[in-house]
Amino acid sequence: MTAPNPPFDFDPLTRNALPGVLRIQAYTPGMPIDELQRRLGLADVVKLASNENPLGASPRVQQTLANAAHSDNLALYPDGSGFRLKRKIGEYHGIAPERVTLGNGSNDLLEFLSRIYAGPGRAVMYSDFAFAVYALAAQAQNADSVVVPAYPADHPMAYGHDLEAFAHGLRQRPDVSLVFIANPNNPTGTWNAPQEILGFLEQVPPHVIVALDEAYWDYQDPALRPDARPWLERFPNLVITRTFSKIYGIASLRVGYALSHPTVADLLNRVRQPFNNNSFALLAAEAALDDQDHVRHSIALNTQQRASLETRLRERRLTVLPSQANFLTVGFGRDARDIHQGLLERGVIVRPMGSYGLPEFLRVTVGTAEQNERFLDALDPARSA
Ligand code: PMP
Repeated sequence: MTAPNPPFDFDPLTRNALPGVLRIQAYTPGMPIDELQRRLGLADVVKLASNENPLGASPRVQQTLANAAHSDNLALYPDGSGFRLKRKIGEYHGIAPERVTLGNGSNDLLEFLSRIYAGPGRAVMYSDFAFAVYALAAQAQNADSVVVPAYPADHPMAYGHDLEAFAHGLRQRPDVSLVFIANPNNPTGTWNAPQEILGFLEQVPPHVIVALDEAYWDYQDPALRPDARPWLERFPNLVITRTFSKIYGIASLRVGYALSHPTVADLLNRVRQPFNNNSFALLAAEAALDDQDHVRHSIALNTQQRASLETRLRERRLTVLPSQANFLTVGFGRDARDIHQGLLERGVIVRPMGSYGLPEFLRVTVGTAEQNERFLDALDPARSA
């Protein structure tokens, strides 16, 4: 005889979870196109909610994937060391492959850093209104979060990272072991000048790791963005993260990487899964890196469309946060939840900002001219409904 099942009770399961995990509020991703189609029975949906490349992946990537699908290698594990991709990334940046670590998205690397450096009795520092994953990474490790106040709403870099306040915070909190800086930041689009970042690095004690998250680096005006790669020599505690999800248009395949001191790369390799990038992702990322024309084309489209979308939004007397990324964060001067809903009903998905403490704002990814037009056409009735 088998014993009867015990009464169904989740409580002991929750009680036994680590306190840090219980504090986590699960990340809310942008709504997938399929879901909105299903929910509202809409055929034609535009998604401008997750900062993806509206031009998609390079045709070279598509060809590479088609060839890979017909190869005999599907049964084999991927190259767990990512040898070829790391070599190519190293060549692209003029950096030794021992300084490159691959992740399943750059999100993977952010979590690895917190697994290595954060934990009970230690603190993770990041800005208010910074990318949500930094808080999650700290909480999962049961580390404290030191949330640095951002620039106020009337500052020219409204809601942006205040690196002087970071440096001040570090002096107050010797338990900080890991600092996250997003440059440009998501969800604000704001950025820090190269001199500000360098000035901050010079004040950071050598045992404190600084993760410089450059997911949107390529979208920045070259005159405004830092080239942090040479700084790696001078600051062994600096880790730069980049992604293939944005400008390279392969968010679906999940590839990101870190550039760091070889010792940090070694530690990152210890905590990652042995095969954290699948074979398709590795091949696609190589092909994406090879097609710099696609990158240039994607940058040009974004620069042009970001400027024109910003103008059209300002004509509507809306607040637009300064952005050097592939999205604009728009303030409506009142709770924007109903505007978000109104846009959904008209087949346009953007990102509400309530979970970031900015309920009056919506974040919209810069799309093609046609997509942006769809957004603006839906926005006017959604605002007045
Ligand atoms: N950093 C920032 C600032 C981001 O906005 C994102 C994606 N939204 C990521 C990292 C992670 O992207 P991925 O894991 O796709 O590389």
